[in-house]
Amino acid sequence: MTFKMIELPYEKNALEPYISAQTFDYHYGKHYKTYVDNLNKLIENTEFATMSLEEIIKNTYAKPEYTAIFNNAAQTWNHEFFWKSMRPNGGGEPKSELKQKIETSFGTIEKFKEEFKTAAITQFGSGWAWLVEDNGTLKVIKTSNADTPIAHNLKPILTIDVWEHAYYLDYQNKRADFVDEYIKNLLNW
Ligand code: MN
Repeated sequence: MTFKMIELPYEKNALEPYISAQTFDYHYGKHYKTYVDNLNKLIENTEFATMSLEEIIKNTYAKPEYTAIFNNAAQTWNHEFFWKSMRPNGGGEPKSELKQKIETSFGTIEKFKEEFKTAAITQFGSGWAWLVEDNGTLKVIKTSNADTPIAHNLKPILTIDVWEHAYYLDYQNKRADFVDEYIKNLLNW
């Protein structure tokens, strides 16, 4: 199987001023593209060539001989989920079903937002913050580098990419400002 880049679900300038078209030129057009291209090269003529992205992730996780395949497969999956975790005129509050689940797990929507923001800001170095479902309970987790909830049998609901390449052109070192704007204006519940 050859993996193809997914289309962005909006124009590359549609999330301005919070994420610029220039950031998408690099983040989508170069970083994400490189993960997909590398994955295709690495799995060619291997046992992984016929697997889905999720199967590749689960079958290469924590196996040192497959670290490169895991990293590129997981980053492909994570970015495709990230593109869909945002939308123009996002933010606000989730619709009733998710809202109820969040209130059951976190108390209030505000408490969830605080926990998600803290996870995103305190992820040391590169990585991701997530809202995931774990056996019916919602949790906030953070993962390092390419690590992904898919490898841990957790169901991702929302994510934010906190690698510097996700925000540096627009926010420089101010990751907290990026996370704030993301939650307020872009989050696609
Ligand atoms: Mn990224």
